[in-house]
Amino acid sequence: MITVIRIGHRPFRDKRITTHVALVSRAFGADRILVDEKDETLEDTVNKVTENFGGNFSIKSGINWKKEFRDFKGIRINLSMYGINVDNRIQDIRKASDGKDMMILVGAEKVPIDAYNIADFNIAVSNQPHSEVSALAIFLDRFYMGKELEKKYEGKMNVIPMDHGKMVKFIPDEQQSMKLLYESGADERIISHVTTVYNLAMAMGKYSNADMKLIAAGSLLHDIGRTKTNGIGHAVAGADILRERNIDESVVRIVERHTGAGILPDEAKKLGLPDRNYIPETLEEKIVAQADNLVSGKTIVTLDETVERYRRQGLEEPAERIKKLHKDLSEACGKDPDEIGRELYNTQS
Ligand code: SAM
Repeated sequence: MITVIRIGHRPFRDKRITTHVALVSRAFGADRILVDEKDETLEDTVNKVTENFGGNFSIKSGINWKKEFRDFKGIRINLSMYGINVDNRIQDIRKASDGKDMMILVGAEKVPIDAYNIADFNIAVSNQPHSEVSALAIFLDRFYMGKELEKKYEGKMNVIPMDHGKMVKFIPDEQQSMKLLYESGADERIISHVTTVYNLAMAMGKYSNADMKLIAAGSLLHDIGRTKTNGIGHAVAGADILRERNIDESVVRIVERHTGAGILPDEAKKLGLPDRNYIPETLEEKIVAQADNLVSGKTIVTLDETVERYRRQGLEEPAERIKKLHKDLSEACGKDPDEIGRELYNTQS
């Protein structure tokens, strides 16, 4: 765990630069930042970035820096132009911090002498004056040997790297998903169905520790394609609508793969569907597919009722796949989805 401690913050003057210290901390692999002066606006700004772009970075302002730095159990670094150059100490720091937490102090204006005396290492990034932002970025980059740049965040907003232009894909929250549904022309029948699927999928997601923001968006949007067609192609139509709206692939695939317990390549070919993968693979894809299988209209039904419905239509193999998916999810949830459905029904009625 790496903590950055930012001292000398003056909320009226340093808002922008302290925000940058926090953003560099987050993007270059630190886990949290402590800021001496209380600044709620700063906390909100940084928390919003983490909420949107992902990760577990945290910020706390209004702390006693000397107490935090002095009592810290781990390796303490003071970044200062008066220290020893980073390249001459980085190996010692890596060795000393092996298995230990690290706290890195950066100042604003004049840093009190206590910081120099308490630190285990006073480290300079060249002995020329520059900035806490650059010093911190270069120190972390040297410490991680560049590996921090490869870290995956998986937030609500994900940048798609491009040679030209720019693209951000996003995972809509509940409100944004409903807006997308209404904008696409979803009627009350679709809305009441997806709401029930959402309730069941969210309950299954909680039992299985799934990614709840994916479950929420995937379940609410799984039938958005029904605004175009009610046929077997509605999942494809839904995926196409969402791709056009720059929705993240992790959500689009939930929608694309939600029919039954998936459609095999040869079945898809016979049904005249485009050549894509229609088998739910991730936990979230499986949960939404099965929650949908267990909801008829706006009513939660049992596995047996669903299997019977498939059999009546002569869909023996797809029915077997639904049974298998049910079993897999019972294991993932530690509870039979039928039972989860009954619990939900009892709490809601
Ligand atoms: N003049 C101030 C002093 O003597 O403490 C430093 C002010 S400087 C703008 C703010 C912070 O940037 C410093 O506390 C230090 O953390 C960082 N910094 C600036 N230049 C640095 C360097 N060459 N190496 C490491 N850190 C540096």
